[in-house]
Amino acid sequence: MKQRLLDAIREHALLCDGAMGTQLMGAGLEQGNCGEAWNLTQPERVLAIQRGYVQAGSDCLLTNTFGGSRIMLNRHSHADDVVRVNAAGVRIAREAFGDRVGYVIGDIGPFGGLMEPYGDFTEAQVRVAFGEQAQALVDAGSDAIIIETQTSLEELGLGLIAAREAGAPCVIGSMAYDVTLDGSTFRTMMGIDPERAAAFMEEHGADIVALNCGTGMDMNRAREAVIRYRRATGLPVMAQPNAGQPKLVDMKVVYDETPEEMVRGVIPLLEAGASIIGGCCGSTPDHIRAFRHAMDMHLAANR
Ligand SMILES: [Zn+2]
Repeated sequence: MKQRLLDAIREHALLCDGAMGTQLMGAGLEQGNCGEAWNLTQPERVLAIQRGYVQAGSDCLLTNTFGGSRIMLNRHSHADDVVRVNAAGVRIAREAFGDRVGYVIGDIGPFGGLMEPYGDFTEAQVRVAFGEQAQALVDAGSDAIIIETQTSLEELGLGLIAAREAGAPCVIGSMAYDVTLDGSTFRTMMGIDPERAAAFMEEHGADIVALNCGTGMDMNRAREAVIRYRRATGLPVMAQPNAGQPKLVDMKVVYDETPEEMVRGVIPLLEAGASIIGGCCGSTPDHIRAFRHAMDMHLAANR
């Protein structure tokens, strides 16, 4: 029988996947179009991307549901498809594992706006949207829910509560930090540092504290964040940094750290105590394959 995710990471670290957005673009999704709708219209393309990660050695996959809340889907006139898009996301990730034991992590990204008084959305609208998405992901059989790329505690809190209330077997909160201009530290766009995020997540029922994406958060900075999280909380820690620093190429932001460069940060991340490692923007199945190799060597040496 398959262990629960939280039990599995007590035994050894797990490998997550790499980027989805950039992979969807590579498979033909046009900028600004709805990648989550592909769960219904182009499921074989989503499956091929996720199979690529499984073949590279991922133990966990994030569902292709980052923008799968009603508020996000509504921008593409898919608000009526919330349950179908999210359920299909879970089904495709599960299928990508085939016979392999793997963990499907239902992905909830930001709702994409600001709440009153700064923006147009009420707290109730966001709570309902996250609740609906979380329930669809749990009902479809997710092993965990991740509330990711978060910058404000208000929105993070609504996501964590939604995941808990939906009955998620494991709840992960993941912050996007930006390195400060002077390079001395990092915090989210809304000014939240890892210590405050960790304490907040613990209070709001998260099982795992995480970081992903952000600006300037490469493997070294992710290691710093893992160390700071571990000092601030006893909860397990997950890290999904981007493939290096952002660069502007043809007016587009790209992350182009190679697998060989990025993999140097894997063992330091494990030694810092990360329980789940993956990649965010710019990371590919080749990066994940390199991570797998490094993790296997490390696990074998520390058995
Ligand atoms: Zn990212």
